Amino acid sequence: MSYQHQWKDGTATGSTPGKIVCVGRNYAEHARELNNPVPPQPLLFIKPATAACPLTAPIKLPANLGSVHYETELAILIGRPLTRASETEALNAIAGVGLALDLTLRELQTRLKTDGHPWERAKGFDGACPLSPFVPVSEFDSLEALQFSLTINGDIRQQGDTRDMITPLLPLLAHISETFTLLPGDVVLTGTPAGVGVLESGQHLKLELSGRLEVETGVE
Ligand code: ZN
Repeated sequence: MSYQHQWKDGTATGSTPGKIVCVGRNYAEHARELNNPVPPQPLLFIKPATAACPLTAPIKLPANLGSVHYETELAILIGRPLTRASETEALNAIAGVGLALDLTLRELQTRLKTDGHPWERAKGFDGACPLSPFVPVSEFDSLEALQFSLTINGDIRQQGDTRDMITPLLPLLAHISETFTLLPGDVVLTGTPAGVGVLESGQHLKLELSGRLEVETGVE
């Protein structure tokens, strides 16, 4: 695995992920569509660095492990260490903003959850986190209201607006850093809006972020 983060102009950021910290059920409508209660505090999990791969490359679906669901999420590239950070420190540590697919082996996840086991096999496998190139944070006037979407074969499947997050971006980064120190190159996935579904071979995907980024990819 030799994944390295890129900026949207194609240059290397010079950083690689140590880990990808994710939050589950951060959009109420998505929690409802899977019949999950909204947790009292952010539900955190981690994908290993080996899950990261470029979103621009064709997506490979794991064989014989059941359906692979897409979850389109705003991805934050960390540029400075954060430990027990304030929201201001969190803001100053954001290097870039991009999009990710939190790929999930849904039947396997359901089985693991039912048995009370950890989810890693369902969400942390090799290639489980396709990441877009990142837009430098300096290109945004504000990170308060970012819209993003996923279109599959011309149909809009997911539309997110960061104003709908249950735990907004800066409190989320601050909260994560209470437990997990975030280091330069780490990525935070901020949760998926409603509309998750099954990826199938041959699909064409287009992901867009607030007029700043458009990435197209396909499923092998
Ligand atoms: Zn997710």
